Amino acid sequence: MLTFALVGNPNAGKTTLFNALTGSTAHVGNWPGVTVDKRVGTYKKSDEPIDIVDLPGIYSLSPYTPEEVIARNFILDERPDCLINIIDATNLERNLYLTTQLMELDVPMVVALNMTDALDKRGDHIDVKALEKRIGFPVAEISALKGDNIDGLMTRAMEALKTPRKAFSVLKESALGSAISNAEIALKLKEVEAPLFHAVKLVEKDSIEVETHPAEARAAEAFIKENLINDQFNGDTEAAIADARYKYITKYFSSTLTRARKYGYDELSKSDKADKVLTHKWAGIPIFLMIMFAIFHMTFSENFLYLGSIIPSFGEWCAVEGGAAKTIFFATGLNSPGIIFFNAMELLTGSIGEGLAAGLEGLGTNPILLSLLIDGAWGGIASVLSFLPQILVLFLFFSILEDTGYMARVAFMLDRIFRRFGVSGRAFMPMIMGFGCSVPAMINTRTMADEKERQATVRVIPFFSCGAKLPILLAISGAIATRVDGLNADLITYGMYLLGIVVALISLLMMRTTTQRGEASPFIMELPAYHMPGFRNLMLHLWDKAKHFIEKAFTIILISCIAIWFLSNFGWSWNYVGEEGMDQSILASIGKLIQPIFTPLGFGSQLNENGWVFAVAAILGLIAKEDVIAAFGALAACIGGTLANGMEEGVAEVVLMMNATGISNAALVSFIAFNMLTIPCFAAVATARGEIGKEKFKWTLLFWVVVSYLVSTIVYTVGVAVWMIAIWAAAAVFVAVGIALYNRYMDKKERK
Ligand code: GDP
Ligand code: MG
Repeated sequence: MLTFALVGNPNAGKTTLFNALTGSTAHVGNWPGVTVDKRVGTYKKSDEPIDIVDLPGIYSLSPYTPEEVIARNFILDERPDCLINIIDATNLERNLYLTTQLMELDVPMVVALNMTDALDKRGDHIDVKALEKRIGFPVAEISALKGDNIDGLMTRAMEALKTPRKAFSVLKESALGSAISNAEIALKLKEVEAPLFHAVKLVEKDSIEVETHPAEARAAEAFIKENLINDQFNGDTEAAIADARYKYITKYFSSTLTRARKYGYDELSKSDKADKVLTHKWAGIPIFLMIMFAIFHMTFSENFLYLGSIIPSFGEWCAVEGGAAKTIFFATGLNSPGIIFFNAMELLTGSIGEGLAAGLEGLGTNPILLSLLIDGAWGGIASVLSFLPQILVLFLFFSILEDTGYMARVAFMLDRIFRRFGVSGRAFMPMIMGFGCSVPAMINTRTMADEKERQATVRVIPFFSCGAKLPILLAISGAIATRVDGLNADLITYGMYLLGIVVALISLLMMRTTTQRGEASPFIMELPAYHMPGFRNLMLHLWDKAKHFIEKAFTIILISCIAIWFLSNFGWSWNYVGEEGMDQSILASIGKLIQPIFTPLGFGSQLNENGWVFAVAAILGLIAKEDVIAAFGALAACIGGTLANGMEEGVAEVVLMMNATGISNAALVSFIAFNMLTIPCFAAVATARGEIGKEKFKWTLLFWVVVSYLVSTIVYTVGVAVWMIAIWAAAAVFVAVGIALYNRYMDKKERK
């Protein structure tokens, strides 16, 4: 099978093109570094299918960053059949810098001139025919975002395969040309593959190359010295080569671009103007926090825009009391979009459940089997599925922030603050990815240069509440909101997300000043201009999330629910105990056994005879975090139904069940905190083990247990008093910063 590789600068549109070619749903982001793990897909529209590899974004083929090494090794060692060099047409000269290096290989190659839609919008024009002639291989104009000419690009690539290409260096006409030619001849004699490429690297004194061919490297150096070439760069051949490349680009390629100056300038200044406010020195972070709150409000509030407080009788005023419309749209006020979708989904899963139950009863199904199917299996799945719409709404907002380029700014702002404490902005990108799923986020840390910083980052990634933890947050904050007047779920979820972030940052600072000591690694990032996110990319991203979630619901969660049903309906001697005797069930006795562990956290022995469900749910969360709520869903019919008679209509079953355990609000918050911070799901644990290494992983497990236990205990102890939590958080920050500063100070002293 043929293999084509996508090579280009960060943000040139590789991932977008990759998705367009393979129809796959790889993650598309806006910051350099998202594409670290190697992704392979298949292009199927040609006669034979072609493997497409999305390489990490790079500016050059030197071995300074992990991305460069990955891309370089892939191209040199795996020898793809064709390189697709993707170029951002709105940044032609800078992007061609990499192209001049790729030319030095003899691999067939095409240039995909991307973002031509944006170029047209600016009114700029590139003379593609002329460019093609001067570059020496095919150039195809495309728009990866709009899907323009993607198949045309592939046709050109297939043509390029058939006509062998000779390696060519733009440096041959520079002062170093003769040195390169000499080295090339020496390497040819040694029968090295791609001699021209390696010759240039030798002259450049590239560390990898000098190590592999020490004799030739010395010869090249001697030659350069003898001939006194390259004097103005004081022997810095690397700088001389970079300079020669740019000179060549300006001389031969730049003229193919005609600019309509005005447009380009306007666009740039618009982005700059936005950045004046959005990345402002001290207003930037508060603005970010406000944007985040607005997102949570839109997703989780039952009092959208606080209309319910402004117009108190809003609900009655707008809808017939008790109708489906009221259930969906109005609570204390108008519901936010997220809640509207949630209610609609709940209505749907509810009626499916009722329909199923009625149908099965009509068939004369055995009541025990009925209980298994309806309460156990469907009840658990439905309680998780109801949250899917809200998860998608939240991720839609997150993806928009990412795709517009705003998240890159957040990393940049945080870098400014945390660099002092040995934590770089590099660490924030994977952490923010952790809001989606810890697994790819942990893998993404591979771009980080400092190993200790990387390990510390992997450890705190689970604190960034992932999609699977959202149902826990939503169900429980919903329960709290029904109990406390005037409190809304948006505020609780927002608070819990912030708690996760604060705990992560404090832990990171503490680790970086103790066991994981080190200087922050350099963080060079270009802030891309803001742009509108592509609709297709957003939808692909959401579809990916939804698919993953539904797959999980009908596999691992379904199996867990069935297991929970058996364990909660049967006693130790495999006697059926049913709803009334659930207290005697296997699950109940296990739950009661481990329950005391959670007493300091508020959901242990102090609860009534149904309280064991929390202990059980917390343990089940180790399999998959959705299992926590699925377990509640599977058990709710029994526990809530029998004990909470006369509860207000319309309150979800899960809420009834929680109320039936006699748990306090503080303990509910503590329960969320515990599940958010403790050992993550199986998949994340396995990934972390791979990324951190066996030895240190033991400590990582202990770290997660200790942090979650400690923080939850604190949350519970300070109780419902929100201001007390704030004081504790402030005190913890204070201590952490104190330790950090003290250690820095001692460090400096030592050095002196
Ligand atoms: P990568 O870093 O090379 O993988 O680049 P991405 O595929 O993540 O693209 C970076 C940004 O450029 C994304 O926000 C894309 O939506 C945007 N983008 C990609 N291709 C095009 C295009 O053809 N036209 C326009 N206007 N934007 C594009
Ligand atoms: Mg990418």
